Amino acid sequence: MYIITIDPDKCQGDGDCGDVCPVKILAVTEINGKKITIVEGNVDDCMGCGSCTATCTHEAITVQEV
Ligand code: SF4
Repeated sequence: MYIITIDPDKCQGDGDCGDVCPVKILAVTEINGKKITIVEGNVDDCMGCGSCTATCTHEAITVQEV
């Protein structure tokens, strides 16, 4: 299983990670007027492929196997 961490200070909510996620568990939402990506689907579906971290140009998302 994997833990997905999104740094709200770094995330710009551009949605690139959600676009490349093969299991579509990342989604952009808006909190207090700021766009941010959240884990919207079932985190257990994460395959740990690393596509999201590789795509994020802000280094805002990390995926750790536990
Ligand atoms: S590691 Fe892969 S499956 Fe998991 S959230 Fe990132 S892109 Fe999706």
